[in-house]
Amino acid sequence: MRELPLTIENVVEHSSPQVGLAVLGHPINHSISPILHHAALENLASTEPSFADWTYERFDVKPENLEVALNRLSKSGYLGLNLTIPHKVEVLGLLNGLDREASLIGAVNTLIFRDGEWYGQNTDGYGLQKALENELNCNLAGSQILILGAGGAARAAAVQSLLAGARNVHIHNRSFDRLNDLLNLLSNEFDGGQMSGSTPDDVRCEDFIGQNWIIINATSLGLNAMDSSPLFMSCSEFGKETVVYDMIYNPPQTSLLTEAEKAGYKCANGLSMLIYQAAKSLEIWTDRAIAAEAMFEAANNHFRA
Ligand code: NDP
Repeated sequence: MRELPLTIENVVEHSSPQVGLAVLGHPINHSISPILHHAALENLASTEPSFADWTYERFDVKPENLEVALNRLSKSGYLGLNLTIPHKVEVLGLLNGLDREASLIGAVNTLIFRDGEWYGQNTDGYGLQKALENELNCNLAGSQILILGAGGAARAAAVQSLLAGARNVHIHNRSFDRLNDLLNLLSNEFDGGQMSGSTPDDVRCEDFIGQNWIIINATSLGLNAMDSSPLFMSCSEFGKETVVYDMIYNPPQTSLLTEAEKAGYKCANGLSMLIYQAAKSLEIWTDRAIAAEAMFEAANNHFRA
């Protein structure tokens, strides 16, 4: 049986050689991060026994308690934290230091405590890029990227695509206002010529027909098993070398992935992104190369159970 999440009232002191890691969110029951990190830490400990003293816990932290939680955890021997809903953006106001990706993405999913303060990073874009490379054998560099959605995950995908040198990034979103906000933000940092956007009202399907795209679903459409596909045209009309990545991993099969399979495209769900972003966080904290295999095995066992 899985352990219940902790709250900041029951933070346990970690004193050397113990090292604390944790994920903070609200709600946090759904998070499989402890499963992934325990598997990777166990793997590390098999060659470096000191990692047996590292723990990774889940804390249920309400938004109004985030600052108190960060203070308490840093004083209690915690070195690294992951942040999930609703803290990824709110934490920005509490940090002095941020890496470039996190600043461009406008959100933090990884904190490391160093020189007496929490420093923010974002490994989501990295996780996506690695997932595309390793699972679908495709590169963002030089490719045409079609991102469905304009929320936080879409912003991470767009930033990573642009940083990696994508030829063209097109963002398609249900609502105009969110799309417009994201395009404006991105055009302040990147060459606007590489970017375009559409909504269901103004999308020009002829711009996509017969062309090869990396299609990334970053909407929440698909989280319910009965959800329709977020695509604005028949999936089979894209070029034959199109690949489809759905950031959703639970359920593992979405309407979009079913359509992509029928069209004969390479495709994958978002589990690999979740794992590669987690592996990158652990690399930041441990300063060791993390092989993702142990995390994949643990995640697959968890979802099969
Ligand atoms: P946000 O709430 O920030 O954004 C949600 C997006 O989905 C918006 O663009 C919204 O459009 C769109 N959307 C919601 N409902 C519909 C609908 N019925 N039809 C069309 N579009 C819709 O969420 P996030 O960006 O944080 O997350 C998006 C998805 O990515 C989630 O499914 C999440 O689970 C997944 N994700 C996966 C990760 C992984 O590691 N695999 C990491 C992070 C996220 P509008 O602006 O019009 O409301």
